[in-house]
Amino acid sequence: MTFQDLNLNTPLLNALEDLKFETPTPIQEQAFSTIMSGKDVVGIAQTGTGKTFAYMLPILRMLKYSEQKNPRILVMVPTRELVVQVVEEIEKLAAYINVRVAGVYGGVNINTQHQDLLQGQDIVVATPGRLYDLVIRRAVQLKSIQKLVIDEVDVMLDLGFRFQINNILELIPDNRQNIMFSATMTEAVEELIDANFRTPEKISVAISGTPLDNIEQRGYKIPNFHTKANFLKELLKDKETYSKVLIFVGYKRLADRLFEILSLEFEEECTIIHSNKSQNYRLRSIRQFGDGFCRILVATDVMARGLDIEHVSHVINFDTPEYPENYMHRIGRTGRAERQGISFLLTTEKEEENLEKIQTLMRMEVPQFELPESVEISTILIPEEQPKVFEINNPNKNEDAPGPAFHEKSAKNQKVNLGGSYRREIAKKYKKPKTRGDKNYNKRNKK
Ligand code: AMP
Repeated sequence: MTFQDLNLNTPLLNALEDLKFETPTPIQEQAFSTIMSGKDVVGIAQTGTGKTFAYMLPILRMLKYSEQKNPRILVMVPTRELVVQVVEEIEKLAAYINVRVAGVYGGVNINTQHQDLLQGQDIVVATPGRLYDLVIRRAVQLKSIQKLVIDEVDVMLDLGFRFQINNILELIPDNRQNIMFSATMTEAVEELIDANFRTPEKISVAISGTPLDNIEQRGYKIPNFHTKANFLKELLKDKETYSKVLIFVGYKRLADRLFEILSLEFEEECTIIHSNKSQNYRLRSIRQFGDGFCRILVATDVMARGLDIEHVSHVINFDTPEYPENYMHRIGRTGRAERQGISFLLTTEKEEENLEKIQTLMRMEVPQFELPESVEISTILIPEEQPKVFEINNPNKNEDAPGPAFHEKSAKNQKVNLGGSYRREIAKKYKKPKTRGDKNYNKRNKK
């Protein structure tokens, strides 16, 4: 397929020609007609796949010339670097289109951006916090937004921008088109989609389901978190073999917990990276792992994505990720550049479904190994593994809180509250007319 085959117009085709882009990337090909259809779209794609043009091509194709002040397109991204980059990309693509684009982000003087927005814009590319500040100052109104793009949404949520995103979502019209791109699917991303999107169409560049030949995969069925940790402690004792080990844990809280356990045993050999750690801490962790000072790095998926660390001897999937794409990203961190890499996949009974999905994507089974007998099987469960309490309508209680197993409600608590009992009693007594106009209802029924 070439760009000629997409329903583009001459100004866009000319810009693409100037850029010497001939064929759309897979995500561009898929995104074009889906976004043109006006439906909500969720794209799973990483940086480097051409995702910026994937959403900008159809958006620019549909955007009509206007002199109105309020922007019609809003693109939200997590960092100022990305704002700058996206604005540049849009400007290249819109070289022959009369369109006004502004980028706004925090950490710099707000007044220039304020003035920029007051001029009137068609497209605003923004980090959510700064945009909100500008709305509060009345530099811009978001009531004319027709299309909202949230790019790198997994990073945004991981950096804790949920609140800022919600603030912005409240200010833009409901009948907009939502477009979202994320490299990984996480629970938080799904929640955001469920809360704000209307039956979105999902597009993704088929991440290669073929693992590199030079990565040896080993699977272990392990009953719980603490037994998994015991297994790791056992493995990591062998410093020579396990010389550079990247351990993936799906959630920050669990990553912290594992890090604490491993630190007791391996102290300074061990470090951690996730988005609740400060920028300095993260940089130091990466450096120490990279240059071999620490041989064990515990990381969450999103944070480890950008790492380009050489010679990782082992990748340990401490959990079995729900999204098979995440597994492919994880194991790809080892076995780089012709080197042999080994990947371990630890699976609890609950995670077996995830293992199935991974094997389906790869069209191969992960060879399963017996847990060495020397590994102590723990019976202690972490809070997340304990049975859940089902308690309804208690706003003070976290649904995930651990507690005793579910039990039936007592008879007195089984009554269902239909609401408005007083009105129902009165209505029964006075036999209210069924419709307001039926004034003779009571007369007729008195007999
Ligand atoms: P992105 O994934 O949006 O960060 O894009 C990655 C890079 O690929 C950017 O430098 C784009 O300019 C470039 N690019 C985007 N689309 C194409 C294409 N169809 N052909 C070649 N390069 C492209």
